[in-house]
Amino acid sequence: MGESAAVFRSAFRALGEFLRNPRLSSFYRTQPRYLEDQPPFLNAAVSGRTLLDPRQLLAAVQSIESAHGRNRSREVFKGPRTLDIDILLYGDAILSYPELVVPHPGLQERLFALVPLLELAPDLADPRTGRPFRDLAAELPDQGIYLEVEAGL
Ligand code: ADP
Ligand code: MG
Repeated sequence: MGESAAVFRSAFRALGEFLRNPRLSSFYRTQPRYLEDQPPFLNAAVSGRTLLDPRQLLAAVQSIESAHGRNRSREVFKGPRTLDIDILLYGDAILSYPELVVPHPGLQERLFALVPLLELAPDLADPRTGRPFRDLAAELPDQGIYLEVEAGL
């Protein structure tokens, strides 16, 4: 919801507080999945190195969501939101805490996550299987992912 490209740039600046070598992908306009009767989403990926452990990183990204007006208690499940920051990968870690699963469980089926991720890191492989994400992405049907703003613009 709102001026998503401006929200992304602001969130990226906030992530830069605890990421070294932060990188931001292009922005992609994407068709909603799961709950399809809603406007399209804007998606992007960020990479960087961090000294935070995975659960500290989750707490940090959730505080950035809150700072951008996200209030989960007032949202429709899988519906519109101002900002959703998910942890797709944490190096090669395979983690399963009650509040945090890494790699993100939806990653391998979601082109809205895979396409921006592959832009930043084309050679990444799924740490669970060793399969390159680009091969997984190539096997998925068209999901309606459109480049909207090229990286750096
Ligand atoms: P969405 O499924 O749309 O991302 P939320 O952002 O509300 O919905 O996330 C729901 C919960 O998912 C969070 O409260 C968080 O604890 C949990 N979660 C589990 N794994 C992850 C992850 N890899 N990245 C972000 N959140 C995660
Ligand atoms: Mg989330």
